[in-house]
Amino acid sequence: MTTQTETSYRADAAATARIVPSFVQGAWWSPSPSPSPSIGAAVAATGVPVRDASTGEVVALVSCEGLDLGAAIDYARSVGQRSLGDLTFHQRALVLKTLAGYLNSVKDGLYELSDQTGATRRDSMIDIDGGIGVLFTYGSKGRRELPNSTVYVDGAPENLARDGSFGGQHVYTRVPGVAFQVNAFNFPVWGMLEKFAPAFLAGVPSIVKPATPTAFVAEACVRAMVDSGLLPEGSLQLVSGSVRGFLDHLDVRDKVGFTGSASTARSFSAHPNVLEVGVDLTCETDSLNAAILGPDAEPGTPEFDAYVASVVTEMTAKAGQKCTSIRRLIVPRERMDAVADAVGARIEKRVVLGDPRAEGVTMGPLASLDQRDEVQKSINALLAGGGHVAWGSLDAPLVTHADGTVGPAADGAFVSPVLLAFDDSDAGAVHEIEAFGPVASMIGYDSVTDAVRLANRGGGSLVATIASADPAAVATLFAGIAPFHGRVLVLDGSVARTSTGHGSPVPHLVHGGPGRAGGGEELGGIRSVLHYMQRTAVQGSPAVLTALTGQWRAGAPSRVDAEHPFRKSLARLRIGDAIASEAREITLDDIGHFAEFTGDTFYAHTDEEAAAANPFFPGRVAHGYLLLSFAAGLFVDPAPGPVLANYGLENLRFVTPVSPGDSVRVTLTAKQITPRETDEYGEVRWDAVLQNQRDEVVATYDVLTLVAKE
Ligand code: NAP
Repeated sequence: MTTQTETSYRADAAATARIVPSFVQGAWWSPSPSPSPSIGAAVAATGVPVRDASTGEVVALVSCEGLDLGAAIDYARSVGQRSLGDLTFHQRALVLKTLAGYLNSVKDGLYELSDQTGATRRDSMIDIDGGIGVLFTYGSKGRRELPNSTVYVDGAPENLARDGSFGGQHVYTRVPGVAFQVNAFNFPVWGMLEKFAPAFLAGVPSIVKPATPTAFVAEACVRAMVDSGLLPEGSLQLVSGSVRGFLDHLDVRDKVGFTGSASTARSFSAHPNVLEVGVDLTCETDSLNAAILGPDAEPGTPEFDAYVASVVTEMTAKAGQKCTSIRRLIVPRERMDAVADAVGARIEKRVVLGDPRAEGVTMGPLASLDQRDEVQKSINALLAGGGHVAWGSLDAPLVTHADGTVGPAADGAFVSPVLLAFDDSDAGAVHEIEAFGPVASMIGYDSVTDAVRLANRGGGSLVATIASADPAAVATLFAGIAPFHGRVLVLDGSVARTSTGHGSPVPHLVHGGPGRAGGGEELGGIRSVLHYMQRTAVQGSPAVLTALTGQWRAGAPSRVDAEHPFRKSLARLRIGDAIASEAREITLDDIGHFAEFTGDTFYAHTDEEAAAANPFFPGRVAHGYLLLSFAAGLFVDPAPGPVLANYGLENLRFVTPVSPGDSVRVTLTAKQITPRETDEYGEVRWDAVLQNQRDEVVATYDVLTLVAKE
């Protein structure tokens, strides 16, 4: 609801504050100005005023009133899908990498804006550099872990007929709609890019909707991305403003990624298009993350120190406005006072509250006065629920202003760090109320099992820390809490310096958690790309499966022709090109020579009697590595040519032992061809099968080579 004060404020602010535009259908869009009573005949931009978190000054107006969201969604589904569909995974990954480099070169402007949200330099680094880091990671993982095509093959092929004529395979293809991404206010850049990057890599266009209080930072980032000229048409649109009813436009083609409060998540999940039409909704919501101090972590141990350092970091980084912040300290009951003292001492030593633009400030305000009021409300509820202040003060804080003076906060959204403690570890409030600020609560446990039970009372969390160097305690705690958590950090003295931290999701590992944490999962490397794709089990002949997946499989047509496939560059090599070698007999001398030459004199190759007593061998047998070496001698084409190097083997299995007098031959078939975007060569994976004179399979593996494009 709009209040009278807010309405007049909008009009006044309109003279100075700019409206944060949206970027839709390939162009920047702002709401039409409306007549303003307070500035006479002139017209004023309208929108929700957003204020500098430290000073209260209006910095922007945010509105998307009048925006044609349906048209933006259609544009993503048509133009965005088409332009991303023209690119392979590797080409998209390369765009992400180049984009990351570009954002790195212009990030200073983002830092300046980020100051206005109350973020310190370090907070902004988590948001801005963290976001750019996600792009870099997906730019690199996309080229290393995905094929240079548009379809992702999941797992090994399944043979469904005795004679190999029918099989199955799981295959991922991108969804044909839009990825609609609704973000929380706390990380306007990271929050946006960690959703955008995997969707982009999957080939699904994004519409991002930042939270109103920090939309102006997200908009600046999108502007830089658009200005880079790197984005394929329609791959990214931005809606700045409190767009409501977006779910009305979505259907089974689309994905929604949401980060924010549990109550908003609940309202989305009750929407008919989610319940009945099948819009896929992934939620990251609030979380009462625990940090368990192990029974062994006495004061003076590295684990105790690391625990205290981690608690203070999590309470104060981003002024505690992190979904992953530690909210519940679960510590041995008799150590509660020691923990409170150590946490307090560290805060006193390290934390300076104030305007992040002032020298020496290490903790800024909350993002808005509304957030400050919310946090104060939550602190009061925690106190009413049985908590008391173990360290800190609830009085209005004195803060360092931008000019270096220290005084009352005035219009800034400041809250001091506060550690609460509960005598009753089962008090409902501590396990239910998330104070989204520099606030944590401590409870005591009596046994490791008790600690597990208390941690899990969070009802499902994003992350927990176990600070312990006792392997037995770690094993029990981990086994007990893992099913309730998306991520668990085990903190001991050996990782105290190198750990990425309790509160920092990394793009390589999953971010999300069960139950109260929303039940969603983001990041986790290529896993999150697959969230924007549909997994389909496809069944058919080997030829059909080869054609649909771009990976040759046994039973599909192959071609042995006069030209050795190693003479063919990537330009001419085709999947299914093969070589079938002559047979080579393996003699006892070969085995003895290999044993002596390599030093591998394992009894199965050197001692007839001992080998025969082994349940797997009829007597002395050839070394597996001897067979691989002979196979290479059988299939290789030795002269310089397009094949540049052999860089490994995968999936090697020795199936049938080879005795002296047996012979082996090898069939090598081009299985997968992956040209590199940035090099003059690519990877070729060859299917290798060794058979004996009875046509029994002796060994199977993939040979990995680098082959020139021309
Ligand atoms: P919120 O009120 O749920 O808002 C989050 C986002 O949803 C904002 O972009 C908001 O837009 C939008 N939104 C709210 N109602 C909407 C509706 N009916 N239709 C469309 N969009 C709607 O959450 P918040 O209070 O700003 O964020 C803080 C919460 O987020 C905390 O509880 C925190 O734990 C959680 N969080 C979770 C994670 C995580 O990864 N799990 C990360 C960060 C924060 P407007 O701003 O325009 O209203």
